[in-house]
Amino acid sequence: MTTTNHLFAAMRGAMPDLAKPLAIHPDGSVASYGDALALSARLANVLVARGVKPGDRVAVQVEKSWPAFVLYLATLRAGAAYLPLNTAYTLSELEYFLSDAEPTVAVVRPETADAVRALATKLNVPHVETLGADGKGSIMDAAAGQPDTFDDVPRGPDDLAGILYTSGTTGRAKGAMLSHANLLSNAVTLRDYWRFTADDVLIHALPIFHTHGLFVAGDIILMAGASMIFCPKFDAAEVLRLMPKATTLMGVPTFYTRLLDQPGLTREATAHMRLFVSGSAPLLAETHRAFEEKTGQAILERYGMTETGMNTSNPYDGARIAGTVGYPLPGIEVRIADPATGAILGPEEIGSIEVKGPNVFKGYWKLPEKTASEFHDGYFITGDLGKIDGRGYVHIVGRGKDLVITGGFNVYPKEVEGEIDALPGVLESAVIGLPHKDFGEAVTAVIVRTPGSALTEAQVHAALDGRLAKFKLPKKVFFVDELPRNTMGKVQKNVLRDTYKDIYRSVA
Ligand code: AMP
Repeated sequence: MTTTNHLFAAMRGAMPDLAKPLAIHPDGSVASYGDALALSARLANVLVARGVKPGDRVAVQVEKSWPAFVLYLATLRAGAAYLPLNTAYTLSELEYFLSDAEPTVAVVRPETADAVRALATKLNVPHVETLGADGKGSIMDAAAGQPDTFDDVPRGPDDLAGILYTSGTTGRAKGAMLSHANLLSNAVTLRDYWRFTADDVLIHALPIFHTHGLFVAGDIILMAGASMIFCPKFDAAEVLRLMPKATTLMGVPTFYTRLLDQPGLTREATAHMRLFVSGSAPLLAETHRAFEEKTGQAILERYGMTETGMNTSNPYDGARIAGTVGYPLPGIEVRIADPATGAILGPEEIGSIEVKGPNVFKGYWKLPEKTASEFHDGYFITGDLGKIDGRGYVHIVGRGKDLVITGGFNVYPKEVEGEIDALPGVLESAVIGLPHKDFGEAVTAVIVRTPGSALTEAQVHAALDGRLAKFKLPKKVFFVDELPRNTMGKVQKNVLRDTYKDIYRSVA
């Protein structure tokens, strides 16, 4: 077996002087590259002691903390696949993930450990460990007793490094299988395209259960031998305070709208920063313009997804055009196909965005047929609609289906509608995303009550809370006599979106 494409071996090869800070905590304390190497070795020893074998899954649903990030590195070193889960997922959602992924170890918050242990017994998950927001827990206790060296388990390029569940555009969450070669190729391409070097200090304020914060941000920093200021969460005032000590920020559009609300956002405040990156959801051209006006810096927008990592990016040099996601990245092919016929379309023609390259995932976990149906002659069908303009810039014009992206998280309306329709007093419902300055889109429900029902918005909220992750809960609920339908009987969500399009204007 070769370790040439082993992601951690490559990271190790890129490591600077081990005394250099890898993570700087907002209070100024530091974890060096050497610390990361030692702790990841200890944790890898714990994983192996718990029976983790090459190819096994390590499922992790914990708050963002430095040890949680190192646990990702430890999993790579142990030759297993890291499976991070959004902390917003409820216990019933977790049950699905654990039963589907069959992990050998599940690492969870101390608060949920008892409930998860009961689930684990039912689902035959052999080990449950804890890790709290404070970086303490049973897995850290076990690590303290382990050696700080570890022989990294060799892995081939196609072996799995991570599985990330994504709702994508078609209902129930599917596990996207990402190989060592997928992640390594994307990290190296992005590092070079965005000119990351060992001199960089990234403000890391993204969650680490998603491709953006974990792979794009984390892997690039390691492959550049750079440092990151590791924030537990995004706080606009705090991020602004940190900018004089940093060089780069990666964010979702919400970060930038919130930064724009800070009176302290000026040219001087951002003078030490060389790059602001945005992605995971569309950045309004208005936000791009306002940010440039205040800071003199043009936000660099890029486009990617769980299944592929990053596909396109605005250029580092050259025009960063608001409302576009830039050029296909080096080594990645992007084309536009007619969604109905599959014919490949020319410049300026709108169709389905398809991508091919070393970044494209290995398929959906346990779903070979689903995987095959998402490819078109070797290209992955992203589910996004867009065009490539005459200059070669890719534009996203919408989503093939009705996926809602709120605060950078995907919400598939069908899932929320299913929960609403099951409530007493509901005849049917339609869930849509509506423009919201802060969240990009806000989940909104339109409900038809059964005759005589006096169901209220508050009752709907109360019933859904706890059944669905918070980010999936409708921000507003409207009641109507009937849903608009086309001649084929399909609910016309575009009509609903148009009717309610301004309702969050006053809120945001
Ligand atoms: P996820 O798998 O959670 O990363 O979500 C991927 C989806 O987010 C893509 O398929 C797009 O619909 C959307 N997306 C990501 N980046 C952008 C962007 N820069 N502009 C518009 N949509 C984006």
